[in-house]
Amino acid sequence: MPSNDAAGRSSARRAAWLEAAKVLAADPAARVRCPNCQDDFLTIEDIAVESPGGRYVERILRCPACGTWESILREVPKGR
Ligand SMILES: [Zn+2]
Repeated sequence: MPSNDAAGRSSARRAAWLEAAKVLAADPAARVRCPNCQDDFLTIEDIAVESPGGRYVERILRCPACGTWESILREVPKGR
C-alpha cells in the first residue's frame, strides 16, 4: 500500500468523505463514522475564508482515531 496517496486519492475515497460532509452539512450534530477506519466519529472544524470572489467556509473533517482528515470548501450563500 502506498504511504503517500496525495496524488493518487481514489475518487471512491473522496466520494465517501463528500457523503460524510453532506450529512454533517444537514445536521452538524450528526455522528458520522470515519470513512477510513470506521472506528470513531468525525469532528468538524470550520474556517472562514475571505476572497475577492466571495466568502467561503473551509470545513475540515477529522477522525480522532486514525487522524485522517479531508477539507471541503463551501461557498457561503450571499445575503446571509
Ligand atoms: Zn478514522
